[in-house]
Amino acid sequence: MSTATDRKQNLAPPAAHFTSADKQLLRRRLFAWYSKSARDLPWRRSRDAYGVWVSEVMLQQTTVAAVRDYFKRFMEAFPDVHALANAPETRVMRAWEGLGYYRRARQLHAAAKKIVAEHGGALPPNVVELQELPGIGRYTAGAIASIAFGQRAPILEANTVRLLSRLIGYREDPLATTGQRVLWRVAEEILPQKNVAHFNQALMELGSLVCTPSVPNCAECPLSAVCTAFSLGLQSEIPRPKARKTYTYLREAAVLVRKNGSVLIRRCGEGERWAGLWDFPRFGLDAEGPLYARDEIVAKVCEQTGVTCAPTGLLKTFKHGVTRYRITLECYEAKHVAGRVHLASSATARWVKFSELSEIPLSATGRQIAKLLPGDTSRSKKS
Ligand code: SF4
Repeated sequence: MSTATDRKQNLAPPAAHFTSADKQLLRRRLFAWYSKSARDLPWRRSRDAYGVWVSEVMLQQTTVAAVRDYFKRFMEAFPDVHALANAPETRVMRAWEGLGYYRRARQLHAAAKKIVAEHGGALPPNVVELQELPGIGRYTAGAIASIAFGQRAPILEANTVRLLSRLIGYREDPLATTGQRVLWRVAEEILPQKNVAHFNQALMELGSLVCTPSVPNCAECPLSAVCTAFSLGLQSEIPRPKARKTYTYLREAAVLVRKNGSVLIRRCGEGERWAGLWDFPRFGLDAEGPLYARDEIVAKVCEQTGVTCAPTGLLKTFKHGVTRYRITLECYEAKHVAGRVHLASSATARWVKFSELSEIPLSATGRQIAKLLPGDTSRSKKS
């Protein structure tokens, strides 16, 4: 085993990061830990490639706690690739509503269609073909190939980036091109010849439960004997902290235009924040402009939908965050005055009964606004 002194003198990562003995120890201890500590997660009960794929896509940038129930509901609604491929996009988006990063759902749907059309409904078992499917990058391909098909494919995601960076004492930016190259090489270097499915899952589990971002539990870690960050006391410095986020503050308006028990909604087009979801007419307002900018509201609703409305008041103000934006959203009520809905760019607009809103995939704040409507049934229904 390489010593702490060796590592102190050579902090730049060498070509091979572990001796054979280190790797054997790492694998043995990791397997032993995982057999005792693995959580019982719904997607771990089967090695079915479709379930592995859905769970891995849901888990991208989303916590296990948030994904659990979504995964169960999604698998009940779309139990296999054919069911997903044949479903209307509205149903898929409604099942995904609230999980965020909606592009994932649209790509999953598109990939299911491609798998049916080009692979007879079965996911291909190798990383090259998997990466040709929409929304499947190197990590997701490696996870599916190793977990579902037992292929000797490495993985690298948020938890293992942190874990591997600490294990080898990598002090540069792990997300930069060089950092990624180094860590992918490490992920490959430590792979065992057999049982790669468990090994990869164990690495992610250890990163998630023990080698946590701010206070890793090194006292309980099975890999402390081969961990450079631990031996040098650098756990809090590795991986290198990200630059502080700077936020952009926005003011927006959403308008509930009513007509005889119906309300006006529009589908967000490509390039918009909620692409693929439905929303009430929504637009930016001048941050310094007056509260209740009546003329601007009328003009913007007409521009987006073709409908002329008469605002009747401010219903509620929400504050919410989306990526780097901190948004103050003013929700106005309005009556329909004139005009028919028209197609605007790649988005469409339509009138829907209040009761229909529960079946329509809405943006997160769109759903909150829908709950302000009398007779809205989305309060009690879930996808
Ligand atoms: Fe992470 Fe600590 Fe384990 Fe190293 S010893 S891998 S820093 S938990």
